[in-house]
Amino acid sequence: MLIDLHTHSRRSDGTDSPTELVENAARAGLDVVALTDHDAMTGWDEAQAAADRVGITLVKGLEISCRHQYRGVHLLGYEPDPTYAPLLDELERVLGGRQDRLPKTIARLQDLGIPITEADVLAVSGDAAATGRPHVADALIARGVVATRDEAFERYLMPGRPAYVDRYAADLENMIGLLVAAGGRPVIAHPWTRQSRKVLTAEVIAGLVDVGLVGLEVDHNDHDADTRTRLRAIAGELDLVVTGSSDYHGTGKIGYDLGVNTTAPEQAARLLEDRVALFR
Ligand code: AMP
Ligand code: ZN
Ligand code: FE
Ligand code: FE
Repeated sequence: MLIDLHTHSRRSDGTDSPTELVENAARAGLDVVALTDHDAMTGWDEAQAAADRVGITLVKGLEISCRHQYRGVHLLGYEPDPTYAPLLDELERVLGGRQDRLPKTIARLQDLGIPITEADVLAVSGDAAATGRPHVADALIARGVVATRDEAFERYLMPGRPAYVDRYAADLENMIGLLVAAGGRPVIAHPWTRQSRKVLTAEVIAGLVDVGLVGLEVDHNDHDADTRTRLRAIAGELDLVVTGSSDYHGTGKIGYDLGVNTTAPEQAARLLEDRVALFR
């Protein structure tokens, strides 16, 4: 049984529609796939219809941009009530931060003499609820300024580069609480990538368990073997669920193919309990 619990569609910065993503998941041999767009749940209905058609189990999730001690932390939330108002309010704030950032990013690029407009970005972001730097990268590609998303991040968009602009992110502990209150299951995404590894010590993670954290995404392409071993040990000590996922973005992120990392069925069962019928 193959379970991949972290993927992105065009509703955020992936390149597949939710339907294409689910079809590709079935083609890749997955039995269970979670759709976890950044800060948005707008792909769920379309993905569910596709999942019913192709006979694969969909887990409804999202990946929320959070902050802890001034560092960015990505938090996966599985199966929250999508009508829970306090959660929706906070997601609106995060999406608002994305909207506020876009014109500032464009202004920085224009200051560098690059002919790019907000309309260029909106043309490539299409029906995305969460507009992000990958869409700016795609617009730069369309303008012939760079060849790939990676090159756009490397030259302009990552922290320390000239077109990087900070934006609002949700407080991590508060968001864990909101997800739990919405009946959802919070899991820290790629806990030890560059931004977050400095703040997410074992002690801090233990504190997050106290406010409702249920899992760690240990098996992720951004973690080397040693990192995975150490995170798995922390998860073991704290009795946290261990997940593994691709973080698939379609053609937007090379090497993060569907099913490249997977979650063990017993871990998925613990994570999702009676929220999703995994075995059918
Ligand atoms: P944003 O949501 O605007 O903060 O942009 C962050 C997203 O950009 C991440 O979730 C990744 O999907 C993507 N990303 C980050 N670094 C790179 C990179 N070097 N190349 C391509 N995509 C990236
Ligand atoms: Zn992304
Ligand atoms: Fe992430
Ligand atoms: Fe992701």
